[in-house]
Amino acid sequence: MPTLAYLLLGSNLGDRAARLAQARHDLAATAGRLVAASALYETAAWGLTDQPAFLNQVLAIETDLAAPTLLAACLAAEQQQGRERQVRWAARTLDVDILLFGQEILATPTLTVPHPALPARRFALVPLAELAPQLRHPQLHQTISELLSACTDPLPVQRITA
Ligand code: AMP
Repeated sequence: MPTLAYLLLGSNLGDRAARLAQARHDLAATAGRLVAASALYETAAWGLTDQPAFLNQVLAIETDLAAPTLLAACLAAEQQQGRERQVRWAARTLDVDILLFGQEILATPTLTVPHPALPARRFALVPLAELAPQLRHPQLHQTISELLSACTDPLPVQRITA
């Protein structure tokens, strides 16, 4: 049985929209079937604020991979675009996070699912709510739409594509 996973893409360096398009292409080849993609949203950088704004997008991917293998595909997509991990929260060409992996709950040293920051990050909740407002968070038992209503993240998230 395939699993429906939700991935968050983010980029704030170079041609951000082209980087997200390349990531969609790479992940469709390595991770599974791309069943939905949100609009693109722009958000001021979180953490370190003196850097370019991020472009974010959520993808729904139907995958036959196990969660750790899906994570490896996400990291490979990042590496494909030359991401270097140096400074925490620093500008990045491409970031790919697993927000949800079906209804699975995992906490290992290298992978935590659902993503622990999801309820606190408007830039993840807004595009996810576009695709799956009624989806229930497997640990918090609230829908994505309810989590978004309760989210106190002050950073505005602006939809920039139709
Ligand atoms: P960062 O790109 O700075 O958000 O951190 C990436 C690292 O976080 C990866 O190498 C993973 O081992 C770890 N990680 C833990 N949980 C997740 C998740 N749900 N999605 C993506 N990376 C995760």
